[in-house]
Amino acid sequence: MEPSNNTGAGAQGSAPLDVVIVGAGFAGLYAVHKYRGLGFSLRAFEAAPEPGGTWWWNGYPGARCDVESLDYCYGFDEGLMNEWKWSERFATQPEILRYVEHVVERFDLRRDITFNARVTSAVWDDAANLWTVGTSNGERVRTRFLVTAAGCLSLPNTPNFPGLSGFKGKWCQTSAWPKEGVDLRGKRVAVIGTGSSGIQAIPVIAEQAAHLTVFQRTPQFTLPQVNRPIDPEYEAKVRADYMAHRQRNLKNPAGTPRLLIADSAFDLTEEERNAAYEKKWRSGGAGGISAIFGDCMKNLAANDTAAEFVRAKIREIVQDPDVAEALSPRDYPIATKRICIDTDYYATFNRPNVRLVDMRVTPIEQITPEGIKTPAEEIPFDVIVFATGFDAVTGPLLAMNIQGVGGRTLKEAWADGPHTYLGLMVAGFPNLLTVTGPGSPSILINVIVAIEQHVNWIGDTMVHMREHGLSRIETDEAAQEAWGEEVRDVANQTLFPLAKSWYNGDNIEGKPRVFLAYVGGYPTYAERCEKIAKDGYTGFHLSAPGHAPAREARRTEPA
Ligand code: FAD
Ligand code: NAP
Repeated sequence: MEPSNNTGAGAQGSAPLDVVIVGAGFAGLYAVHKYRGLGFSLRAFEAAPEPGGTWWWNGYPGARCDVESLDYCYGFDEGLMNEWKWSERFATQPEILRYVEHVVERFDLRRDITFNARVTSAVWDDAANLWTVGTSNGERVRTRFLVTAAGCLSLPNTPNFPGLSGFKGKWCQTSAWPKEGVDLRGKRVAVIGTGSSGIQAIPVIAEQAAHLTVFQRTPQFTLPQVNRPIDPEYEAKVRADYMAHRQRNLKNPAGTPRLLIADSAFDLTEEERNAAYEKKWRSGGAGGISAIFGDCMKNLAANDTAAEFVRAKIREIVQDPDVAEALSPRDYPIATKRICIDTDYYATFNRPNVRLVDMRVTPIEQITPEGIKTPAEEIPFDVIVFATGFDAVTGPLLAMNIQGVGGRTLKEAWADGPHTYLGLMVAGFPNLLTVTGPGSPSILINVIVAIEQHVNWIGDTMVHMREHGLSRIETDEAAQEAWGEEVRDVANQTLFPLAKSWYNGDNIEGKPRVFLAYVGGYPTYAERCEKIAKDGYTGFHLSAPGHAPAREARRTEPA
């Protein structure tokens, strides 16, 4: 493998780079490939020692994709699509990481990426139209464009339970799983957190540990993944015209295949409806039972038919009725917290070595040197696994210490929650482009689809600017206010705001409650971005060196 060959490029005294990319997950890697191909000079900085982002960090037992393998991969290169073969319907974390490594080698990406380098500052020079980017390894580089590909789920929500530092056993997080692995055999293990990560890890940990105690604060709806070796017949059908398959997916709201049975759950009789849910429950796959009727995410009564179907399943699977009830979500609509996909999650609570602690009844008071103390008891543990999630979407961007026009920080600009135009730009931060930024579809859809659309749009914009001798792009308060209102309006037409969820920032103390993604669906969003560019970048302001338009002239309403 070639080492980085551009160390030092962009440093003070040398020519500024065209682009600095933050992150080397799926977004950063594609950005390196795409922008290099467009002829831009660039460097990427990655905090981890290796590429892969999410799939490098989250190596916990049971980690696996919940979008089908044939769809959760890049769609920008037909050769790549045809040559890579997946072994399972839903790929494991190690298999996805092997795919990433293949992509990195195939496109020779490593030479433009500096690993073990966290971007710790980015300061805008308004006179020179340049960003100065500082990293944890002491580099300072200047660049025309700063493209963040820092991930929506890359800043762990680190637990701060009292007493943790005195715990004598081992503790770890699913979101930064130790590379050397954690030997859980014969151990007394606690898992805290029952989101997607906890729900994937719990059945696997239960098989390894002597005893597992699950600490649940909020019960989750989870659906069977129905994983299996990839079906050769289905694969052949997809591969017969893979590009057309991908294009068809782009017409669906989530950028994945969708089974839509009826516009309303009430278009069917109760018997027909439950038969449809049962069929989907047995077949697994993307979307889940909340996506088969058009009104499930908008009408509480319709939603409750799906929620009650899952609660009935929990009662059917879990032998102890009290445990079944504790596992049954009752205070938020199904899929308004991110739906989980599992293998044998509910059945795991029938195992003699697994116990559920309902934190709504007995919360964790503190971690003791020996284990965990609740008002009812102190339970001894050898290992505590935190599956407590992330400071999602805005967290990684705010952690970078970005300073825009006049030294105003992103933290100041977003004190009351994120403001963006299209999730791509922030007023007062010229030439800063945020891949899967807040207010874009990002984590509500197949994220690779969201990434490719953003990376492509940014690439096209930089080419447009180069061709027209433009050096600066920015948006304004009016454009981002109008977009923010639209993002809020579409979210408020759904049931999403009814849940306490990381989608709304509810999981992080003090985080403003703002719905972090655009729920209007991929096709509407992507068409809007295209139209805006075609119409001359409505809501953006593009200018040549020394010709920044007057502030008043920048007040353009978005389309
Ligand atoms: P990431 O993969 O998060 O990569 C961002 C990179 O930026 C990281 O490597 C990070 O170290 C680096 N970084 C961040 N800040 C800095 C900084 N300041 N300086 C330098 N480097 C920095 N999505 C789906 O669509 N389907 C799924 O099934 C799915 N499963 C998931 C499972 C898990 C366990 C998690 C956590 C997420 C999952 N996601 C899934 C979402 C997933 O994050 C995206 O699919 C995708 O991998 C994101 O790629 P990315 O490059 O945007 O971000
Ligand atoms: P998460 O969904 O935010 O879940 C975190 C869990 O920890 C929740 O159960 C939460 O309880 C609990 N928790 C947090 N702080 C706690 C505290 N102080 N005390 C007790 N419990 C606490 O995080 P995640 O499971 O890592 O998943 C995040 C996202 O990553 C997912 O929604 C998904 O988008 C993605 N992901 C996908 C997959 C996949 O299937 N491919 C796998 C993993 C992750 P509350 O609910 O009460 O807050």
